[in-house]
Amino acid sequence: MSELILSCHLGINHQLGYDPPSEPFVFQRVTQAGCPTPAATLSYHIDKVTEIYEGDYTTVYRASLLGQESGAPRDIVLKTDVNARYPRSSMFTQEALRYEKDLRHMQGTYIPNCYGLFQATIYNKLISVLLLEDCGESINFRDRSLSDSDNIQIWKLFTELHVSGFAHRDVDGRNVVKDRDGKFVLVDLEHSRPHKCEVRLRVLIGDFAPRESDFGCEELYDLAIELDFWLPRFLTIYGYQVAVSAFKNGEAKNIVDMLPSDMFGTEEDREEAMREVERVIKCVQEIQAEYADVPDEQRYLRPSDIPKSRFSSEPQAPV
Ligand SMILES: [Zn+2]
Repeated sequence: MSELILSCHLGINHQLGYDPPSEPFVFQRVTQAGCPTPAATLSYHIDKVTEIYEGDYTTVYRASLLGQESGAPRDIVLKTDVNARYPRSSMFTQEALRYEKDLRHMQGTYIPNCYGLFQATIYNKLISVLLLEDCGESINFRDRSLSDSDNIQIWKLFTELHVSGFAHRDVDGRNVVKDRDGKFVLVDLEHSRPHKCEVRLRVLIGDFAPRESDFGCEELYDLAIELDFWLPRFLTIYGYQVAVSAFKNGEAKNIVDMLPSDMFGTEEDREEAMREVERVIKCVQEIQAEYADVPDEQRYLRPSDIPKSRFSSEPQAPV
């Protein structure tokens, strides 16, 4: 059985109102059914601890891990419920199960390497410590410095998770980290659940957004919106939102008839609106035609000749 020797105490004694102990805390590694048993009995030591997040159930630290099997210390992230108002060891056993069993094949590529779940009963309180590879800093999906290539990498993290039979259930930039080499990794699997992905459409960046019901997967749909992959499903004409589908197949007259008749003072105003709508229909249909020609293997990518901001210089266009 491997053990974790925690000499820095993480304020456990302070939280529970005890004096600092003279001996380090010793945690035992938890091995769950279906997870590989570590080959050797190891003693891990934690050093250089700094807190990076504190929530109701979890505190996250950056630390350095020293283990017998390797000479060099490793940069790790340590998740624990040591400071939790309501410790929930089941959240930790479930997350460890994701790393060590369900999504083990994604470790080191799409999710961090996991160095194990450790538990100890200290002052009558069961405390869990999950050790993970430190893969970098959290991102923000709305960060304008993210390129299309970055966004596609992020997209692949989630699609790989879905293909593996799980949904993340907390789609947010804080749960995607980027390392110094620009590689992205998905973290925080504590809310993940089994998921049968029924996504039916492939994504083209810069195309019009499909309807969620046509797309087939709520989480991936939300992610595509977060990553700003699509043009909107509605265009603004004279201040009114009109579904793109109306422009794809429709006639200008039908669209102008949808607008309140009293907004056109003269027949001339109405004719001008017809010309404006015809121009938007032409633009929408051109985009539609270009995207229809993109072969399946190139989907997920934006054809370089179609600027994302195609409508941006037009006064009646959506932003
Ligand atoms: Zn899915």
